[in-house]
Amino acid sequence: MAELRELYQEMIMEHNKSPRNFKVLANANRSAEGFNPLCGDRLTIYLRVESDRIEDVAFQGSGCAISKASASMLTTRVKGLTTVEARQLFERFHRMLAGGSSADSTGLEKLAVFSGVRQFPVRVKCATLAWHTLRAGLEGAHQVVTTEEESYEPAS
Ligand code: ZN
Repeated sequence: MAELRELYQEMIMEHNKSPRNFKVLANANRSAEGFNPLCGDRLTIYLRVESDRIEDVAFQGSGCAISKASASMLTTRVKGLTTVEARQLFERFHRMLAGGSSADSTGLEKLAVFSGVRQFPVRVKCATLAWHTLRAGLEGAHQVVTTEEESYEPAS
């Protein structure tokens, strides 16, 4: 278990150091801004959605390692998905982190690296910020979301 945790931490640190798709998407047709006031994480997600499919996705922003790594991994994962598939992935990711005692990471693959933050409710907001922002971006033209209205209970 300790080895696995170390591997997870390495993956998060690596994505934090060299985030993927870290840029403004010039031809984006949707975007959303997310803010996590508890930690000070701020990010913008840019999407190019065509015929209900995410053709391209990128992000910019500043924040802690977890928020940045989560956004980076999100962009690599949702590119090419339909908007419905991306929303389902959001639900799964959210359930893994906020679903009480059942830490189900089925189908999440590498995103399961964030399961370790369940023990730290404040960190859950860092890990889910990019996903809330993505969901808002899929809703419409330009959205601003904050993690403030959501509260998490520590995993037991
Ligand atoms: Zn954070």
